[in-house]
Amino acid sequence: MNEPIPGNEMFEALMDQDVIIMAVNVRVTPGVAEGIFRAARDLDSAVMFEIAKSECNVGRGYTGMCPEDYAEQIKAAAEKVGFDCWALHADHITLKKGDEKDVADTKRLIDAQVEAGFTSFAIDASYLFDVEAEDLRVALAGNIAVTTELAKYIESRMEGTPFGLEVEVGEIGKKNEQGHVLTSPEEAVTYVKALNENGVYPQVLAIANGSTHGNIYDEHGKMVEQVSIDIPQTKAIAKALRDNGLHVRIAQHGITGTPRELINTMFPRGDIIKGNVGTFWQNIVLDTFKVCQPELYKDIYDWTLENYGPKNPGKPDSVVFGKNVKYALKEFYDRIHGMDQETTSTIEAIAYAEARVFIKAFGSAGSASKVRAALEKKQ
Ligand SMILES: [Zn+2]
Repeated sequence: MNEPIPGNEMFEALMDQDVIIMAVNVRVTPGVAEGIFRAARDLDSAVMFEIAKSECNVGRGYTGMCPEDYAEQIKAAAEKVGFDCWALHADHITLKKGDEKDVADTKRLIDAQVEAGFTSFAIDASYLFDVEAEDLRVALAGNIAVTTELAKYIESRMEGTPFGLEVEVGEIGKKNEQGHVLTSPEEAVTYVKALNENGVYPQVLAIANGSTHGNIYDEHGKMVEQVSIDIPQTKAIAKALRDNGLHVRIAQHGITGTPRELINTMFPRGDIIKGNVGTFWQNIVLDTFKVCQPELYKDIYDWTLENYGPKNPGKPDSVVFGKNVKYALKEFYDRIHGMDQETTSTIEAIAYAEARVFIKAFGSAGSASKVRAALEKKQ
């Protein structure tokens, strides 16, 4: 019990239903993971725990964790709470160059993730886009080739064990003079068709649809809500995938800062089937530290400003801190993970309450039973 279930089986069980699966990046696990698991258990909601390559890798990433650390901490939290309907997803396995070394290094990361027990993987080769090419398929050729190679590598490493697969077309958060650069329906269809032709069948597709990772700020350095996700474009992409008979739906990245009432009323559930919430949980931990661990908070604050202020001339301190504090997590790993029980309990209570609101907004209460029923049927 309490081992993660294969991501594809969770996606398949909930595809085209009125549900978005909450996928949480928990950069600081103590308190947060237990709180989220308890909310998932109490509301009978399937949940994914994920972590990206930049956050967690063989060199430990900016959270100070290697894949085994993260897997162990999340499994321990699931065990403690007694919750079974969850998957462990390796998010943003990003390749920025796609050359031989990049691919070889990525395979070493995948080895570590497979050994740690991850049950779902997101290959992100979205940077490999040839803007000069006139033909879409040619422009996407680099992404298609690298994604195919790595998907087949994961398949061979998993040795017949089923796993979830997410792929990415369109760089999330990318902007030009006109604003956010959005993925087009044609681009999504061309990309997934090419992968299918190569024998690669992802269940979810990450697209650029106007969201940005992490906290966002106005020009005065005040944190603002995110209302830039283009819902009509997202629906159009999902429709195009369906119309072309492609068995893939959308993963919404960068949800932090999006008002929950907007998620609840506007997000097209069933078109979007996975919703990533990451920085939100980090914000909870830091806000709690302000009161429960003021010295630790001050040290983290000072360290971030000292190291990232000079690299961001002219930016308000609030922005420098909010955008870069994630890099302090490794530096302060021992002190953060050694926080006292009262702080951990406070964080857990907040994470629990907030996770309940997300689960409600994602329509995923009751989804765990559906996944369990689908798994039983298969046996
Ligand atoms: Zn993302």
